[in-house]
Amino acid sequence: MDRRSFIKNSGLLAMAPFLPMNGLSALAALGNSLAPASRMPALFIGHGSPMNAIDDNEFSRSWKALGKTLPRPQAILSISAHWLTNGTSVTAMAQPKTIHDFGGFPKNLFDQQYNAPGAPELAKSTQDLITTTSVHADNTWGLDHGTWSVLLPMYPAADIPVYQLSLDYDKPASYHYELGQQLNKLRDKGVLIIGSGNLVHNLQRVDWSGGNTVYDWAQEFDTKMSGWIQTGDHKSLVNYQQILGNTATMAHPTYDHLLPLFYIMGLQQKEEQVTFFNSKFDMGSISMRSLQIA
Ligand code: ZN
Repeated sequence: MDRRSFIKNSGLLAMAPFLPMNGLSALAALGNSLAPASRMPALFIGHGSPMNAIDDNEFSRSWKALGKTLPRPQAILSISAHWLTNGTSVTAMAQPKTIHDFGGFPKNLFDQQYNAPGAPELAKSTQDLITTTSVHADNTWGLDHGTWSVLLPMYPAADIPVYQLSLDYDKPASYHYELGQQLNKLRDKGVLIIGSGNLVHNLQRVDWSGGNTVYDWAQEFDTKMSGWIQTGDHKSLVNYQQILGNTATMAHPTYDHLLPLFYIMGLQQKEEQVTFFNSKFDMGSISMRSLQIA
C-alpha cells in the first residue's frame, strides 16, 4: 500500500482581513465562556502512522494513559502538521467533520469518526489573543488525522470540544514560536494545547521492511533538538535550519511535521519542566519522541 499519499496538504485558503481585540479583552471573553479550571499542561505528540489511531501498540497505549491521567480539559486546541494554510486560521464550526486525509489504508481506518463538538467561542477568543497577525475563522476544515488519530485513543468518548489552529507554512520557526507564546492564557482556562507532528519525519527514507535501523542524520537531529529542549535553549531550536544544515533537510524534507513543536515550546514558562515520552524511532526515519510541558 502506498502510505506516502497520506501527506496530502490542504489547498491554500483565501484570507479575510480581521481586526483583533487586545489581549485583555480576549481574556475577559474567555472568562465568560469557561468555568474556572486548573492550568493545563501542553503536549507535543509524535503521531506517526495514521494506523496508530486503531492499532493497539506502545504509542496508542501511551495516549490512552494520558487521557486517563491528565486533568480533564475543558477543550482541546490541536495544532496539526496536516493543516497547512496561507496565513493562520482557526476552525470555528460547532461540529467539525472527521477528515480522512490519507490513502492506502484499511477500510476500518476510513470508517473511524471522531464526533467531538467544536469550540466556536474559544476560536473567537483565540483569534483575539493573537495580536501579531490576523487569524482567519475557518468553517471548511474539521479534524484531520493529525488530531483525531491521537484523540481517538486518548479521549475515545469524543465529548470534549476540539478545535484546530492551522500552520502558515511560509513562515519561519520564530513566527510559530511567537504564536505559541500568545496562546499561553488558554492553558489557565482548561484548554489542553496539543502540537501533533514528528520530531524527525522523512517519508522517502522510511524502512518498510519492519527493521528499525535509525539513520545517522535522523539520530543526530533528534539528539540535537531534544538536547536544546532539555536545556531550554529555545534560540538554537528556532534556528535549527542554520545550525543543522543538511541534517535538518534530511530530517525534514518538508518541515510541516516539525512546526507544531514550536508552538508548544513557545508555551513553556520559566518554571515549567519538560518530560519526554515515546522517545524512539519508528521505521528508521520517524521520531515518535513526544513531550509534556508542565
Ligand atoms: Zn502526519
